[in-house]
Amino acid sequence: MADQAKKRFGQNFLHDKNMVAKIVAIVDPRPTDAMVEIGPGRGAMTAGLIEGTGHLTAIEIDRDLHQALTDTFGERLRLIAQDVLTVDFASLAEQAGQPIRIVGNLPYNISSPILFHLLPVADRVVDQTFMLQKEVVDRMVAPEGSKTYGRLSVMLQARYDMERRLIVPPGAFTPAPKVDSAIVSMWPKSAERLQVRNWRALSELVTAAFATRRKMIRNNLAAYLDRLDLAAVGLKETARAEEIAVEQYLALANQLG
Ligand code: SAM
Repeated sequence: MADQAKKRFGQNFLHDKNMVAKIVAIVDPRPTDAMVEIGPGRGAMTAGLIEGTGHLTAIEIDRDLHQALTDTFGERLRLIAQDVLTVDFASLAEQAGQPIRIVGNLPYNISSPILFHLLPVADRVVDQTFMLQKEVVDRMVAPEGSKTYGRLSVMLQARYDMERRLIVPPGAFTPAPKVDSAIVSMWPKSAERLQVRNWRALSELVTAAFATRRKMIRNNLAAYLDRLDLAAVGLKETARAEEIAVEQYLALANQLG
């Protein structure tokens, strides 16, 4: 096992057993689950998860950690030695023959890319339980009008119901990060509740709107205005990106086709 945590892999290992137990209780792993852990590291959460499910698939990029994981969990663990951003989660669900549950104390340096990588496969997912920097979780769940409301909030709230759970202090990890962490639960919205027809249009629109969040949308969305009916969704050209609700972004994106 590697003794030194690797910064480039965002390694902050959970050592607080109480905290691990609380997180596993939130996940509530069951024998019927097809569960995937992102970044098992030294297996802090893996043990509790496998205890509940009997079997687990885990994706770990750091090969120095593999032997110890295999020694500890043997056949019960299927280890994928890959960068999570290159893993095809749709085919993992296909192989499992059922929607998957995803869990992870995510490497903080690539937490947003992981969240965006998982967006297109949300229809194959039961739920996601992640540990992230608290500041990122606050941005994910932020309501419109708040300072932290942004692209991450709109794109994720369009696809998932989300709830911030536990706050985890730096002292629970080795090495200790500089900031608080938090657990977030994410449940993909069912097909009937999904209002997005065109994810690409939504993504472009939201990126443009928040490019300069303090500017009015008559400037930020100038390239789209001739194809948008702002009044139809209750907006004026003087509105700013952070004042526009998720439903309004969705309606605008749907106008773009
Ligand atoms: N789950 C362990 C724990 O709670 O102690 C480790 C969490 S640590 C914050 C993040 C883990 O993700 C590390 O084990 C790291 O090696 C792994 N990791 C980092 N980048 C990765 C990537 N691109 N793909 C897969 N795993 C990655």
